[in-house]
Amino acid sequence: MGKLELMALPYAIDALEPVISKQTLEFHHGKHLAGYVNNLNGMLPGSGFEDAALEEIALKAQGGMLNNAGQILNHNLYFGQFSAPKAENAPTGKLAEAIVHDFGSFEAFKEAFQKSGTTLFGSGWVWLSADKDGKLVITQETNAANPIQKGLKPLLTFDVWEHAYYLDYQNRRPEHLAALWQIIDWNVIEQRYQ
Ligand code: MN
Repeated sequence: MGKLELMALPYAIDALEPVISKQTLEFHHGKHLAGYVNNLNGMLPGSGFEDAALEEIALKAQGGMLNNAGQILNHNLYFGQFSAPKAENAPTGKLAEAIVHDFGSFEAFKEAFQKSGTTLFGSGWVWLSADKDGKLVITQETNAANPIQKGLKPLLTFDVWEHAYYLDYQNRRPEHLAALWQIIDWNVIEQRYQ
């Protein structure tokens, strides 16, 4: 793998406003994620993971390496799933059918997903993943955990660490989570589901 690089955002730094402000992205991507990348780069030499993929480190490492690799993997999936806000924004195709099959309706899925994010105590992530049979599941993962550690394929995630929303929403985590649906790029989620 060599030296890890900070992922480039696939949109302009102000493209997600007003759901996620330019200022939040400058800190969240440019400071928090960059910090995890710098930390992991500092730990790689002599670790035995110098040439490992990020997923392998997140599955096999421990302690600080595990936490930093997990956070990089989580944030790459998180920042990679957004696009400019749309009022009407919903999945289509096979993923839309699977959501209806496994949760009853898209509205019921959104409600369950937001509730998982709202009720996660402390710092962590709520995820939509597919299991080995393709069934969709919602999980809460604390701190830097990722669903690959449970044998799941991660599709969609909301970051509920306070750094993800505090500048824009302060303590109003539920309001932030409810707004995020406007900026999900469902084409990206559908590609992950293939
Ligand atoms: Mn974060």
